Amino acid sequence: METLNFITPTLAEDIATRFGTPAYVYDERSLRLAAEALLDFPNAYGLTARYAIKASPNAAILKLFDRLGLQFDASSGFECERAFRAGINPEKISLSSQEFPENFASLHKKGIHFNACSLLQIERFGQLFPGRELGLRFNPGLGSGSANRTNTGGPTASFGIWHEQSAEARGLAQKFDLTINLIHTHIGSGSDPAVWQRAADLSLDIVRQFPQARALNLGGGFKVGRMPDESTTDLSAIGQPVCEAFIRLFEETGRKIHLEVEPGTYLLANAGALLASVQDIVETGQKGYKFLKLDTGMNDILRPSLYGAQHPIIILPRRKTGQTGSYVVVGHCCETGDLLTPQPGQPELLASRELDEAAVGDLCVVEGTGAYCSSMSASNYNSFPQSPEVILQENGPPLLIRKRQTLDQMLDNEV
Ligand SMILES: *Cc1c(COP(=O)(O)O)cnc(C)c1O
Repeated sequence: METLNFITPTLAEDIATRFGTPAYVYDERSLRLAAEALLDFPNAYGLTARYAIKASPNAAILKLFDRLGLQFDASSGFECERAFRAGINPEKISLSSQEFPENFASLHKKGIHFNACSLLQIERFGQLFPGRELGLRFNPGLGSGSANRTNTGGPTASFGIWHEQSAEARGLAQKFDLTINLIHTHIGSGSDPAVWQRAADLSLDIVRQFPQARALNLGGGFKVGRMPDESTTDLSAIGQPVCEAFIRLFEETGRKIHLEVEPGTYLLANAGALLASVQDIVETGQKGYKFLKLDTGMNDILRPSLYGAQHPIIILPRRKTGQTGSYVVVGHCCETGDLLTPQPGQPELLASRELDEAAVGDLCVVEGTGAYCSSMSASNYNSFPQSPEVILQENGPPLLIRKRQTLDQMLDNEV
């Protein structure tokens, strides 16, 4: 049975009364414990642990991780600027971006690190900053092997410089007198530990081809169990063999390579939940289904519609009947794909879940929504406003860290 991670029924009522539903809720204690576990990642010659900002970029979360000693991975120029505004020191930010930012020169002058993710990006960087240090993101030729939509390595992924083009990358670096000081790979989200380790070995092979590289960034992608039958990556178990590989490289070459990791999911996924309300229940006859309609949907949580991702759903019945019901849980958008219970990995197909018997008005918690929910949704679809974000402080009352958007704010740029 699916269970609550950190919200209690009493707390849920309190949050709903104070901030309304739907609302994203983050748990400071869970965030801290995940950050501390990451900072313990096995390493031979030093570790920089980064937080992948795109998982959930609220300034309160960035500030918390900054205080706890994490640095940051940005996926766009805008994410860099957002982090600056949260007070993050630019030197703690590393940018690996599909798009070379228009204002790159000003970002780099502030001190951000940059990993060129294509041959063209090396060229663009070299033209602006000849003679400087630069990281290179490679596609090591291997993907995370899970759903294709979350795989960022192998021949079907456009991320990074293809591993067979390392000679061309070296040539471009030479042309602009650039020092390649870091090699970067990130093979995708939800990687199996064995695949992640194989990618680490392939990445060390790339490090061998760049004698000036002092660091290897192995990205994120550590699988986190959201559903009861899924398991969470044991960081010390996957990190130990990688640590040994770094030691072997030192014994062979005398090079002590610094390790960087930069997960988003691992730090956030189970430290966030979405609090919603049941707003209707409809049926489609004997051969049909019973649908539970929530006051949230793909405009707050897109992962199920996009990937067929599974999130635990817990009903908090105001009047406990002791009964369960079999429900297809849907969102409030006028879109068949706005479905919170797709078949696993099959966003096109629906599935029923056995949940506590629900009544209209009951609260409902969608678990595992800390990463890639508030930050990645079909925001404002059907003109539903962005939902508020709340953090449960370790020493203090629930704190609002983003207000509910108003209709005026939604229309602000219409002219
Ligand atoms: C998204 C991303 C990450 C984080 O991935 P998770 O699966 O959330 O751990 C890390 N590095 C880069 C370059 C990314 O794009």
